[in-house]
Amino acid sequence: MEIFPISLKLQQQRCLIVGGGHIAYRKAILLQKAGAILDVVAPEIDANLLEIVKKSTGTFLQHTFSEKDLAFPYRLVIAATNVAEVNHQVFALCEQRNLLVNSVDDIPHCRFMMPAIIDRSPLVISVASNGTSPVLSRQLRTKIETLVPQGMGKLAEFSGQWRKQVKEKISNPDQRRVFWEDVYASAIKEQVFTGNLDTAHDMMRQALDTWSIPKGEVYLVGAGPGDPELLTLKALRLMQQADVVIYDRLVSAPILELCRRDAVKIYVGKARSNHSVPQDGINALLVQYAQQGKRVCRLKGGDPFIFGRGGEEIQELFAAGVAFQVVPGITAASGCSAYAGIPLTHRDYAQSVRFLTGHLKEGSPELPWQELVYENQTLVLYMGLVGLDRICKQLIAHGQRPNMPVALISKGTTPEQKVVVGTLQDIASKVAEHQIHAPTLTIIGEVVTLREQLQWGE
Ligand code: SAH
Repeated sequence: MEIFPISLKLQQQRCLIVGGGHIAYRKAILLQKAGAILDVVAPEIDANLLEIVKKSTGTFLQHTFSEKDLAFPYRLVIAATNVAEVNHQVFALCEQRNLLVNSVDDIPHCRFMMPAIIDRSPLVISVASNGTSPVLSRQLRTKIETLVPQGMGKLAEFSGQWRKQVKEKISNPDQRRVFWEDVYASAIKEQVFTGNLDTAHDMMRQALDTWSIPKGEVYLVGAGPGDPELLTLKALRLMQQADVVIYDRLVSAPILELCRRDAVKIYVGKARSNHSVPQDGINALLVQYAQQGKRVCRLKGGDPFIFGRGGEEIQELFAAGVAFQVVPGITAASGCSAYAGIPLTHRDYAQSVRFLTGHLKEGSPELPWQELVYENQTLVLYMGLVGLDRICKQLIAHGQRPNMPVALISKGTTPEQKVVVGTLQDIASKVAEHQIHAPTLTIIGEVVTLREQLQWGE
């Protein structure tokens, strides 16, 4: 992060603008709106700017800028002349004095920048790009303008009026946050938006009177195969309201970034046969946090109910009487096949598809080989890289043709996605040739040949 955003209270604070023309005027409007007292130093001044200076109760200092003008300890200085050298001089002098200075449209000579603003006072949203792209910032501002209702300012004000009372009633900050989140998800918000403040205050009073310590809950959330844009809206919403996020190895870093920033994040990653927290421990963690009243997001790669042990986790929650929700995710088979251009079914090539795991629990029966050797069926193998050679040999031994196409997709849907195509007979040796990294998914079936036409992802 190269810039650090802060929100400055400028009411009654004296600020200096160097320059009396249009550039200065544009900045003066905003500063005056924020309540600053504006002095302008310039040999001459636009009538509009002069009006703003007067309105702000500041002074027009009619002379060319010199060091003496910085004798007063201004809060902020804006260099807005149309002479670059003067602006640079202002910048240098301010820097010597640790004075916050902005040289308009000249990023190297700015200690602070003025962001694009979405004004829903008292709520103010700002967008800054460190000068890399003011147009992009403004576009984003337009987008946010349409997203944030005008009533948001009123809601912030309304909240401000209740803040103290809420704090007195609910002393635990986590519980208080949940209370406010519930308020913002309730009809109270709509009442404020539509201006029915009396009703809103009544409802708020009632909500506070009837408040009791919230019960914890677990969200079992499928995070999809890697691309954060493949999250569902529900997954995103719950990720952003959870107090604790318990995630495993398959959850990509960009997805984790989307969780609430101050949530406690616990890694319980499972690399194959290297379980950093055993399943029992994970189940116990979920129960333990929920019983403390926390909202726990159990974030899993793909879909929680497809080779995700989600079933085992909620059995435990059920037994412990903990409330839970399950949010499906895009499973690796769907994500990888889409991004690799391999449709899992196709009217000409496959009328059924089977999801299998190559990694069997100790003592589990063998895969039902006989059922897997149909011509018009796609097989999708999860966790199959280690057992791949054996599985291919078994399929051939049970009658599958050795030239049946196979695709191996590693890190599917991510920027590092890699696809290796071969046949049952040669895929294992091809794997040895290529550097393939986990996680890897294998698709076996004639549909693999369609990739030649449909490949788009890489
Ligand atoms: N619940 C998950 C699967 C967990 S099992 C889901 O629905 O997708 C872990 C296996 O999923 C991995 O060994 C691999 O076979 C597959 N997998 C998960 N994400 C993947 C990805 N981005 N690319 C390729 N395979 C993936």
